[in-house]
Amino acid sequence: MLQKTSHFMRQANFIDGAWVNADSGQTIDVVNPASGQTIGTVPKAGTAETRRAIEAAEAAFHSWKKTSADHRAKLLRKLHDAIMDNQDALAELLVMEQGKSFAEAKGEVGMSAAYILWYAEEGRRVYGDVVPSPWADRRILVTKEPVGVIGAITPWNFPSSMLARKLGPALASGCTAVAKPASQTPYSGLAWGVLCEEVGFPKGVVNIVTGAASEIGDELCQNPLVRKITFTGSTEVGKTLIEKTAGTVKKVSMELGGNAPFLVFDDADIDRAVEGAIAAKYRNSGQTCVCTNRFFVQAGVYEAFVEKLSAAAERLKVGPGLEEGTQQGPLIDEKAVEKVEELIADATSKGGKLAAGGSRHALGGTFFQPTVISNATPDMRFMKEEIFGPVAPVFRFETEEEAVKLANDTVFGLACYFYTGDLGRAFRVMEGLKYGLVGVNEGIITTVEAPFGGLKESGLGKEGGHQGIEDYLDTKYVCIGGLGL
Ligand code: NAP
Repeated sequence: MLQKTSHFMRQANFIDGAWVNADSGQTIDVVNPASGQTIGTVPKAGTAETRRAIEAAEAAFHSWKKTSADHRAKLLRKLHDAIMDNQDALAELLVMEQGKSFAEAKGEVGMSAAYILWYAEEGRRVYGDVVPSPWADRRILVTKEPVGVIGAITPWNFPSSMLARKLGPALASGCTAVAKPASQTPYSGLAWGVLCEEVGFPKGVVNIVTGAASEIGDELCQNPLVRKITFTGSTEVGKTLIEKTAGTVKKVSMELGGNAPFLVFDDADIDRAVEGAIAAKYRNSGQTCVCTNRFFVQAGVYEAFVEKLSAAAERLKVGPGLEEGTQQGPLIDEKAVEKVEELIADATSKGGKLAAGGSRHALGGTFFQPTVISNATPDMRFMKEEIFGPVAPVFRFETEEEAVKLANDTVFGLACYFYTGDLGRAFRVMEGLKYGLVGVNEGIITTVEAPFGGLKESGLGKEGGHQGIEDYLDTKYVCIGGLGL
């Protein structure tokens, strides 16, 4: 297994079909969060390397955009098959740099393959229009064309699938790409270069650069050859990228932070709600943008829900991701643990009670106990801030109106969840929640077939679904006159 993994673990950048080092020779260390050990290095590239990658992508774009949708679909299907043939090796690499459990990593890699297959198919359905003309001697066509070179910047929490959602629609529509994976988890990003090279994508179509985030980001945002920036990461960085792209008026897609509420009404199936809560909270150790940040539970079932959630949280097996049976791995780094500790201290100083966990795990390092805090109140920091850790604050509410108001009281609008057995309430609450993704009696809802994306400060644009390819296309109106009809 290790030998197969090392095949994908490239300690170089992929530019114009070649594996290269940074011009300066400088590198960044990559650390396994489960052991604290350095597992390798990647190049610390900057402006010059990024510019070369953009120029290679631009050169490749002129021939890539002329290939047929069918040709691109066939290559993408080969890419899908290559990912699935190597699912275990890619998942193991992901665990080593990111920390999540092997089962979750395997699921993520499978999801990456699914996005590629979905867009292989969607690329063949990029239809234009023939519009009824107001003129007898003219005809109106509306065509769709690839935007050109795209810049893709991705975070460490889903280092494989966040790139799949961008590379899939980009390549299917005829765009070429320069990708910058997160510095903490670059190998799953670089593995896309290995896979694309092996299945036969032409040189320059996919380029992958690691290194200094602001230098690479600035070049991607400001270089006029790049026509679209697609970013997944924090709202703070997303806002600066939007500003930086303004000078060259690029298309932007932003998948940013969240602050997901999870509402449990008196009429809900509590056991089902607890099962959904565990999945929506502790997956990836609470480090996902759609993780529940705030639980709101109606007074009549509050005590029962806290008790059952705490018991289920305490049963989760914490350990290194590659250890058999692990359900929760370590947090990504020490800073993440400190943030979780600060938020817990803030809550307990304001009357919050620890119903489960609350401390670093006996395993040491960045392992943390799955935690539940009851008696949460809106003046606590996690009402407004993303926790990004395995902590479940549980607030109490009395009425449906109050619950919806509390749930919407945030600048974010990515995912939300609620549990009820009442159909009328299900529609009222679904329509009242200002979120891009709504799970009704379900805690895990992401799938390639559906559009994923946030409202408000959680983002712009959609990934997945048939909507996910639109942002990679320009719409062109063509008026054909002088037909003499
Ligand atoms: P981050 O700090 O914003 O980093 C994300 C990416 O941006 C990394 O590749 C990072 O590079 C890069 N970056 C940082 N500063 C930059 C700059 N000045 N210019 C250009 N690029 C820059 O976010 P993160 O901590 O990795 O990820 C967690 C955040 O992502 C959370 O807020 C989470 O909610 C959000 N997220 C959202 C979604 C979604 O679909 N909505 C999905 C997953 C995660 P370096 O690694 O080199 O610093």
